[in-house]
Amino acid sequence: MDKVKKAYKILRSCRLCPRQCRVDRLKGEVGFCKAGLAPMVSSFHAHFGEEPPISGFKGSGTIFFTHCSLRCVFCQNHPISHLGEGREVSAEELAGMMLGLERQGCHNINFVTPTHYMPQILEAVFIAKEKGLAVPLVWNCGGYESMEALEILDGVIDIYMPDMKYSDNAVSRKYSSAPDYFEVSKNAVKEMRRQAGDLVVEKGIAMKGILIRHLVLPDGIAGSSAIFDFIVKELSPDTYVNIMAQYYPCHHAHGFSEINRRITHREYMDALRLAREKGLSGGFRQVLETIDRARIPEWTDDLKT
Ligand code: SF4
Repeated sequence: MDKVKKAYKILRSCRLCPRQCRVDRLKGEVGFCKAGLAPMVSSFHAHFGEEPPISGFKGSGTIFFTHCSLRCVFCQNHPISHLGEGREVSAEELAGMMLGLERQGCHNINFVTPTHYMPQILEAVFIAKEKGLAVPLVWNCGGYESMEALEILDGVIDIYMPDMKYSDNAVSRKYSSAPDYFEVSKNAVKEMRRQAGDLVVEKGIAMKGILIRHLVLPDGIAGSSAIFDFIVKELSPDTYVNIMAQYYPCHHAHGFSEINRRITHREYMDALRLAREKGLSGGFRQVLETIDRARIPEWTDDLKT
């Protein structure tokens, strides 16, 4: 419970994410993310659309949190992340959701966009663990994490699933209002790997480790090359990286002509080629039958193929 107390102390002058708004969330003040004191959940259910070792055969026990500390102009979940759709829950209720998902047979509890509710989630985790929660815990985040918060999660979170969205800070400033994204995300994923190591998969199910997601954007805007370079040189060539092709323009993306389209097949294949050339050997790729209309992603577990 020391960790929970330590985590709640951060809320008094909120530094849960690198924005360091320093608002007193214990008194109900809100900062950039608009999150208050009580955690808000938009939905929770068994999810079968995550990476194969995360969804497994019985689904990933996903809990989607409301609000976000990033402001991606192309956010696919903007009613939840930016407009605040969801309802407030108590720590006991949150713990009950976890236990219910485990009872359904889910392989893990998958906290989606959890960064700004870390203390509240931690409190609920301890309640659920006292009642027998045993499946791995997944921290499914945007990669924009503070070291102070991550250090508290050491020994609690089994699987880290961060995005690495951009390698150019001018780009991250423009599309996510995060001018220091690359430096912050590099430090964060290094700490995540230090805590959890490379992904360990047993009988097809992830048990611990780090799985990085990288969304390919039009015109090479995501800066994939520098991200793959970093992963190979500073983490490990065996890092599991999901190179994602599902970008489509939504929310405010229509206001930016350069990202107001899906990626092309060529752009996606170029990203895969880069990953291979840089030496990434672990991970997934989505193979698209067509880019423009019917999209039939399938998964393969080897970037070399
Ligand atoms: S979690 Fe929210 S309030 Fe706290 S520092 Fe980040 S954006 Fe600001």
